[in-house]
Amino acid sequence: MPISIVGDTMNRFFITSDQFNNERPLITGTDVKHAARVLRLGPGDSVVLLDGTGRAAVAVIEQIGKDHITCRKVNDFNPGGEPPIDVFLVQGLAKGEKMEYIIQKCTELGVSGIIPLVSRRSVVRLEGERIASRQSRWQRVALEASKQCRRSRIPEVFTPREMEDVLRNIPPGALSILPWEGERSTSLKDALPGTNPGKIYIFVGPEGGFEDSEVEEAQSSGVAVVSLGPRILRTETAGPACLAIIMHKWGDLG
Ligand code: SAM
Repeated sequence: MPISIVGDTMNRFFITSDQFNNERPLITGTDVKHAARVLRLGPGDSVVLLDGTGRAAVAVIEQIGKDHITCRKVNDFNPGGEPPIDVFLVQGLAKGEKMEYIIQKCTELGVSGIIPLVSRRSVVRLEGERIASRQSRWQRVALEASKQCRRSRIPEVFTPREMEDVLRNIPPGALSILPWEGERSTSLKDALPGTNPGKIYIFVGPEGGFEDSEVEEAQSSGVAVVSLGPRILRTETAGPACLAIIMHKWGDLG
């Protein structure tokens, strides 16, 4: 049986890239208890180790300690689970648990990264230490969602940025799209080209939407402003809806 089929049924663990580079990598953190007590894994059992950037290996457990599990790498493994397009969601900062919901759903749908956007109508204002603690919580949501849906890459959740900063850093050749409920002539369907552009940035406004000046700023930087149809979608619906449409066209959905 090809190892990829065997590996597809094995338990998977994300480890750091440093550990992944070792011949005898360690599984640490909450996965130790989960592997030993819940999954009842022990020495001699095979697992798949992933570094979160797409690299994976089949490994055998050698020893289970109190706070780490020692493994021995057996061979590289193609974990799959990643779409053939990179989609980045630039998401206007939303209230309460909405950001977590958006990160979780977009991770399942195959997003490559999420850039929280400090937009002019964002009610949420993060400052100082709250930025770091929120970002690490969001990154944990992306990790847990990646584990659950068996992705091999963990989408990066960036620190919140201003529109100007995001626009300046869009790589050449990437397609950028901003859904705006005021757009009447161009639909998302019209803005998507015939062939896979490789990288797409989608800008979604917060609960109150984008200000006209933000739409103009994006448009003058080459971002395509589109309509998502006659109904106003909530901010937590718009990103996952765009992702699903794009992943259906060029990705691996459906
Ligand atoms: N300001 C709007 C209002 O109060 O009527 C609502 C903004 S909507 C909740 C949040 C974001 O979702 C918008 O900024 C836009 O990016 C996107 N969006 C929602 N529905 C849309 C539609 N029908 N067409 C284009 N964009 C839409």
